[in-house]
Amino acid sequence: MKLFDAHSHMHMGPRGLVIPAAVEQTPFTFDGAAIMSTHPRDYIKVDSIVSGLRDRDYRAVPCYGIHPWFLYDVLTSSDEEVDWLGELKQRLLDHPDAIVGEIGLDGNRWVEVKQSDQAEESIWKRERVLACPMELQRKAFEEQLVLAAELQRPVSIHVVSAWGELFAAFENVRERMKHKHDQMAVKVMDGQRKRQKTKTKLLPPKIYFHAFSGKAGALPSIRSACAKGNIPLEDIYFGFPPAIKNFYAPKTPGIMREIGIRQLLLETDLEDATSAWDDLKRGVSGISEALDMTESEVATETYKNVHRFYFEPV
Ligand SMILES: [Zn+2]
Repeated sequence: MKLFDAHSHMHMGPRGLVIPAAVEQTPFTFDGAAIMSTHPRDYIKVDSIVSGLRDRDYRAVPCYGIHPWFLYDVLTSSDEEVDWLGELKQRLLDHPDAIVGEIGLDGNRWVEVKQSDQAEESIWKRERVLACPMELQRKAFEEQLVLAAELQRPVSIHVVSAWGELFAAFENVRERMKHKHDQMAVKVMDGQRKRQKTKTKLLPPKIYFHAFSGKAGALPSIRSACAKGNIPLEDIYFGFPPAIKNFYAPKTPGIMREIGIRQLLLETDLEDATSAWDDLKRGVSGISEALDMTESEVATETYKNVHRFYFEPV
């Protein structure tokens, strides 16, 4: 039985390419990983890890996009106007097997603003602001979603304390895509202008909420926001990496049950992949306990899911 890491940042780790391997006797083997960019400077490193895995006969998926934690740096670090969106589009066109990720919204990543150069200030005077203003996050997120929808690529999404913003972004993207399709779909039929009524996808065709941090109560709203963009329930996936403490939260087993085995992906979210094998196994154990399934069933089912998400054509 094979385990695939659906969300890895191995390219950012101290060792780079690491093949996660078991030291114990196990029925499981490592199958491969999806390597998630966080910044345009990652793209070449992602390509190198993907080639390294494929050269060793593992499966690998390149993922390109800008993570909300690094967005401010991308938008402000260069003197010249950075065409990060054009670069991303070209990357995706050059790599038809690539998906869009990691992109998203983070309302809980703060940086401290220095009030003055005086070293010893009262901690109460310290001010903190979001690592990237939400307005800029929203704009970049929507642009990347539109790109994924236009090119019909799946997305891996990070959302922390920004669900309201996510729903608003989805609504904007649906409207933008609807407008584009309406313009294309107006056809002259029987001498009259009629609109072609098709279930055109108005959001990226498959959506993966990685490191899901929402409550079970948020799931109906998420499903409905996707359904309004003609993305059915079976194309919405969720992951819970053991490296993020939410994995161990008391609410998590109930949320996993509410999501159901068919929509769960195994993921590590790790940079240093030396502990990736342990985390993949922890993921299997956690789901097995939450859903009252055997570990073999969990491995088999999540592997089918990863196949549908990454390797079946849209
Ligand atoms: Zn990540």
